[in-house]
Amino acid sequence: MEHATALPEFLVQRYRAWAGNDYLAKADKHRKLAREGQHPSALVISCCDSRVQPTDIFAADPGDFFVHRNIANLVPKPTTEGGPHGTSAAIEYAVTALDVSHILVVGHSSCGGVRGCHDMCQGTAPALERPDSFVGRWIDALRPAFETVKDIDDETARVAALEKAAVVMSLNNLMAFDFVADRVADGRISLHGLWTDIADGRLEQYDPKTGQFSRV
Ligand SMILES: [Zn+2]
Repeated sequence: MEHATALPEFLVQRYRAWAGNDYLAKADKHRKLAREGQHPSALVISCCDSRVQPTDIFAADPGDFFVHRNIANLVPKPTTEGGPHGTSAAIEYAVTALDVSHILVVGHSSCGGVRGCHDMCQGTAPALERPDSFVGRWIDALRPAFETVKDIDDETARVAALEKAAVVMSLNNLMAFDFVADRVADGRISLHGLWTDIADGRLEQYDPKTGQFSRV
């Protein structure tokens, strides 16, 4: 593979700083994890967005969370058709092999993926409509949720509502996996819908009784 090159210097420097400080401070923990394997308590599904760090929000250490990130923190409906399914694979492994006790779906403010789906549904994002747009075909999964927010007049409020609707849709789709539904039914797993504001660090959680998100 002649296209791979050496790490740029700034990343080498960052790695060496980590290895000499953060890693050393937690070296015993790393060795224990390597020896005994991982036993994370939670599966976290969050966006790829570089501004969202779910492990920071909960001050997580290595081994605490099994994290799956994708554009717009979506859980599509389960299907075995249409090729590999990375999100479903992560969910299956976390639930059936790692036996996690909690699944957290973490949405966020200013989500570009959610915005893209919003614009596509409004007919103003032709590039995302193209059959060869990987992003567009991925966020198609969120289209049904747009129906729940489309009547909100203010655009900013409508997009923000879609960010939260994405979380609720993902929770609903999680329950369509039998191995999740069975464990929710007998109390082995709890599901949590969250949304975080990048600017002020606010974390809100979904309350199924009211259908609203409220501050943690
Ligand atoms: Zn996002």
